[in-house]
Amino acid sequence: MDKIKEAADLILKSKKVFALTGAGISTDSGIPDFRSSTGYYSKMDPALALSKDRLLNHPEIFYKEGYKILEDLNDQEPNGGHKALAKLEKLGYLSGIITQNIDNLHAKAGSKNIYEVHGETRGTHCMKCGKEYPFAVMREKVEKGEIPPKCDECGGTIRPNVVMFGDMMPDDFERGARELDNTDTLIVVGSSLTVSPVNFLPNYVDHLIIINNDPTPMDRQADVVIHENSTIVLQEILKEIESRK
Ligand SMILES: [Zn+2]
Repeated sequence: MDKIKEAADLILKSKKVFALTGAGISTDSGIPDFRSSTGYYSKMDPALALSKDRLLNHPEIFYKEGYKILEDLNDQEPNGGHKALAKLEKLGYLSGIITQNIDNLHAKAGSKNIYEVHGETRGTHCMKCGKEYPFAVMREKVEKGEIPPKCDECGGTIRPNVVMFGDMMPDDFERGARELDNTDTLIVVGSSLTVSPVNFLPNYVDHLIIINNDPTPMDRQADVVIHENSTIVLQEILKEIESRK
């Protein structure tokens, strides 16, 4: 495909390349899009299930519904798309990833420089004293019926390190955006670029490659647009780049 060659050309001639990933990169790992209205999430509103209001005011429902989503994410494995990005970083063609996903799959695939702008589901922390606990510790407490789960140090409530509706954006957003100051090319993968403030990030770079199943509002600004399965496209781009060494 010519577009694969164009994308590879752009990556090879750029001094600094970053990726911005959204839910679409993880669908091949069996994780449905939070915002799609079918299947998995059709019976509940994830915006409500994973909201700070729910956590604080109805913890018994939060630790049943919202928490179940996080548990499921924790059990998935990275696909060829995550692995291709990790390989590009290892080979020196990619400087890092800004991700909207909370599924830990970039980390599991071996990527190193990751900015998780909506948090992650590996860790948890006490809302009162900040003490950190692995997700498994919280999981154990919840399974024992300790709802909400309590901090061993101060008795405060333990919550997941996920940015929920009603939370502020984490430091990773600022730090990730700063990386783009001197980035030439951004590869957008599996993001519809409709969620603020992440949808402003493509404006910080000179060149844009968009890989998404559906059209995005930024397609017209992009150098290369590929509306195909992101797992296959990323593997082909990696293969193309490796063939030119
Ligand atoms: Zn505490």
